[in-house]
Amino acid sequence: MSREKLANIIFPEITETIADLEKKYPHRNLKAGAEVTRFAPSPTGFLHTGSLFAALVSRTVAHQNGGVFFVRLEDTDTKREIEGAGENLLKEMQLFKVFPDEGYLGDKEVGKYGPYKQSERANIYKTVIKQMIKDDLAYPCFCTTEDLAFLRATQEASKVVSGYYGHYATCSKLTAAEAIAKIEAGIPYVIRFRSRGNHDNRVTFNDEVKGPIEIAENDQHIVILKSDGLPTYHFAHVCDDHFMRTTVVSRGEEWISSVPLHLEMFAAVKFNTPRYAHLPTIDKLDDGNKRKLSKRRDPEAAVTYFLELGYPVQAILTYLMSIANSNFEEWWTENRQAPLSAFPFSFSKMSVDGALFDIEKVNFFAREYIASLTAKEVVDEYLEFAKYNKNEQLVRRIKDNYELFLQIMNIEREGEKPRKDYSYYAMVYPSIRFFFNDEFSVMHDEFDVNEFKESLTKETLIALLESFKTELTYGEGNNVWFDSLKNIAEKHGFATNNKAYRTNPELYKGNVADAAEALRLAIVLNKKSLNLYEVLSILGKNEIEKRLTAMQNKLK
Ligand code: GLU
Ligand code: ZN
Repeated sequence: MSREKLANIIFPEITETIADLEKKYPHRNLKAGAEVTRFAPSPTGFLHTGSLFAALVSRTVAHQNGGVFFVRLEDTDTKREIEGAGENLLKEMQLFKVFPDEGYLGDKEVGKYGPYKQSERANIYKTVIKQMIKDDLAYPCFCTTEDLAFLRATQEASKVVSGYYGHYATCSKLTAAEAIAKIEAGIPYVIRFRSRGNHDNRVTFNDEVKGPIEIAENDQHIVILKSDGLPTYHFAHVCDDHFMRTTVVSRGEEWISSVPLHLEMFAAVKFNTPRYAHLPTIDKLDDGNKRKLSKRRDPEAAVTYFLELGYPVQAILTYLMSIANSNFEEWWTENRQAPLSAFPFSFSKMSVDGALFDIEKVNFFAREYIASLTAKEVVDEYLEFAKYNKNEQLVRRIKDNYELFLQIMNIEREGEKPRKDYSYYAMVYPSIRFFFNDEFSVMHDEFDVNEFKESLTKETLIALLESFKTELTYGEGNNVWFDSLKNIAEKHGFATNNKAYRTNPELYKGNVADAAEALRLAIVLNKKSLNLYEVLSILGKNEIEKRLTAMQNKLK
């Protein structure tokens, strides 16, 4: 009776019961095998690459069998909250096409199991706790910060496990009447869970990823409701994943050690426990040592890193799937056209230790992906990249020269052996700048004529470029063009036969490759470039002549 009174004194405003909540949040009507998964970020920063990975895995699992993937914003730690972080996380998920079916969507909420922001669910937690107080599963704790510091010091001095448990849990010994007296005297309090566990016992559970796990039972009387009226993570997890009807809790493996506590709470309040899938961390090799990808030390820990460089989203997702399941890459090789969602993902094929982040592998998937696109798709993605980075100049350049960009991006693309030189869109501009006259003149001013092969005199070069102006054929195919290049080279004393050149180099000014390099330098201002014939075809006769003349003048 007095526990009932205590519950009513603490929560006079709570009139609903757990039974009401069960009715309000009914079991979901899903077909057999459909999973309900969730992503539960805290609004404390940017979207971490590891979180994107977790969200992708959770979504994949839900979508495999017609289930539901939802997002819940875990915003009960108001001290650590960063303004706007929740909206931002959802925006980034959207950019990566890992958008939830239900839940907190940033600017709105969708679904019948809400609210999906924990800060708006206080009444749900209080309803459950009110019943727990009546059932002697929770109690108010009046310990001050000083009391708890003293407890910790005592425990450290006597070398016992620290925490609020067993006979150290002083407030657990108060009678309901004593607790009521303190509340009526205005002493502040939090609510703790009354653990009946014993640290010497072991609990086992079956993790979907890691298999059977055995750990010590929980005996900590953790705080479940803080003095600000909001729950702690552990308790919110129990209530939310119950009433949101989650079937598999997929979350980072750092939560494994909390499972005994969670299992004890689920059992205490008689909720069915969901299945657990503890996902591996994404690690990095640092001086030969494996460590978790870190917010502070690794730029690639933030998903924005990939967006800023213009990595194709599809390639990042493909990469993340490849670290999710060891058999993914083989499947992908055989099913390149298939959507990633067609891959039969399974928790049991996840790596048990952390997955190693490998930027070379990311680059590989990205190159393959970009190579699979049409020129138009590349230009459109490139434009998106420019817009994402708010690069107005580039946006305008692409829009104003759309046809030219299509031609440029089509160089060695839609054929049999598409080029695989780009892995992210920030790589594009330096390689195509020279096409634009304004850029070309800047580059031309900076160009150093010592780039030409040392043995070629200025006179030879000027004469060679003159012939290129008047005698070079293009527009009739690569072979015709190259034959004319060869003829010109030969006329100017270059060897057209490699073997002859190697045997008697002194007889020649160089070989045909040296002549081609001179042409390339005059037109592109770089020894390396895209296929020269295609570059020339795009630039056209007038522009080529202009550039050759400009280089002749620079050589004079
Ligand atoms: N809010 C928790 C976190 O960000 C979520 C853990 C979970 O998925 O349950 O770490
Ligand atoms: Zn206490």
